[in-house]
Amino acid sequence: MSMDKKEYYIRMHSNLQYVKKNNCNGDYLCPICLNEYSEQDVKNVLTEEDVPQKSLGGNRIALTCRKCNSRCGSDIDIHLLNAITTREHRLFLPCSERKIRIEKDGQLLNANLQIDEDRTIKLLVDTKRNKPDTWIDFHNNILLPNEVVNVEDVPLKRNERRISAALLKNAYLLLFAKTGYTFLLDKYYDSLRKQILEPDVFHVPDRLWTMQNIPIPDGIYLTQDNRYRGFFVIYTLRLKLLYRVCVLIPTPNVPYLMAVKELEKIDSKSQVKVLRLPDLDYFNNMASIETLNQWCYGWSLKF
Ligand SMILES: [Zn+2]
Repeated sequence: MSMDKKEYYIRMHSNLQYVKKNNCNGDYLCPICLNEYSEQDVKNVLTEEDVPQKSLGGNRIALTCRKCNSRCGSDIDIHLLNAITTREHRLFLPCSERKIRIEKDGQLLNANLQIDEDRTIKLLVDTKRNKPDTWIDFHNNILLPNEVVNVEDVPLKRNERRISAALLKNAYLLLFAKTGYTFLLDKYYDSLRKQILEPDVFHVPDRLWTMQNIPIPDGIYLTQDNRYRGFFVIYTLRLKLLYRVCVLIPTPNVPYLMAVKELEKIDSKSQVKVLRLPDLDYFNNMASIETLNQWCYGWSLKF
């Protein structure tokens, strides 16, 4: 699905005029790095961002700067894709193919493992990924008929913190696409933005997300418990199978650590009350913007 960049830009620009707080001069701020951009950057510098990433079934819903877009792609998105790919490899799903390695008698053979629709497994030797001698040797001398061999997947790079950062980025951009800069320009979210750009550094706790038993449809929900008052952003990742993700983006009065502690206590037996974020115009309707801000800020922590 493609988007009208210009139209999107104008909507967000106008939203920014409503909520401008922190002396920003730009006409548009990249939601991830908050660098300032203007209308002439729409064509080349601001890029359409797929949320979640395209390989996991996302749609283009935000404009981010080219730098953030490519940095997130190579630093965090790939780790999320690799984690899911690795999981699906273990399931030996029909109609799939992947790179594997076979080691025997001190020799290493690179091959592809192909699983057909009827779950027949085929081993295809990729001549480009092997020296000719090796695969001829495997064919003639090493792999004998009915031989049992150990097959090992070529490991895909995946790092827990980077996976978390990717899950968080998706939720943050989904929320941004719905509510614009309305409250997300709050300094409180700087650490969340930094976490996306510097996934290896500890800015916010890892586990602002869960994948357990999510009984409600994708969307943005307001949590009804002040100990973790915020937004449940629920979305689906699609590779061969579907994976539902729920990320908590707390409101600025809730310390991140406290939100995570409370989130950890929720299990399948917990009664969690949520309310779907009302479908209002949070970009240009002052009353809606104020209602949302009131919900975010108009309360205090009681212990
Ligand atoms: Zn950026």
